[in-house]
Amino acid sequence: MLVVEILLQQTQASRVASFIPAFFLEFPTPRSLLEVEGSELSVRIATLGLQKRRASRLKALAAAIEARDGRIPGTKEELQALPGVGPYVAAAFLSTVAGEPEAMVDVNMARFVERIYGPRELVDIRYDPHINGIATRLVRLAPSAAEFNWAVLDLAAIHCRARSPTCRTCPMLEVCPEGKARVGGTREET
Ligand code: SF4
Repeated sequence: MLVVEILLQQTQASRVASFIPAFFLEFPTPRSLLEVEGSELSVRIATLGLQKRRASRLKALAAAIEARDGRIPGTKEELQALPGVGPYVAAAFLSTVAGEPEAMVDVNMARFVERIYGPRELVDIRYDPHINGIATRLVRLAPSAAEFNWAVLDLAAIHCRARSPTCRTCPMLEVCPEGKARVGGTREET
């Protein structure tokens, strides 16, 4: 899961999804990632782009997990202490693997929250109390944290896009001031 999130950074999910099976067949453990040369690993993942940076992150992550005897930590703080693991990757791991109510706050979640609940207070969404506070409250109300996070990602991809959101057909329109303004006003579907 942590490896997948590194592969997903700035990359379309569909490209990563088709790449993952062969990758995990070749590198099934942290040790297998450590045993391959960095330059060779870069070549193996070149199809996804950003290969040098990704290879370096994958090897650093594998080394950190090996140093813990292969154990992946179970708290957000410990996860974020691993190389290449920030709040988003830690939340993705905890909500998906452990079922913990952690919101995956990225630009999509931030856009969704801002359009319904109002603007952020800080530029950096990782530390914005409004975005993170709302997202955390919502994910705690959801029966499944992982499904909530995936639903927001889907909604952001299908309806609540940065440009030209499709508010008329969005299931959140009833509770969304931004959507109502767009549908009823001059900013409709622009
Ligand atoms: Fe986004 Fe429009 Fe849906 Fe509101 S109604 S969440 S702005 S797509």
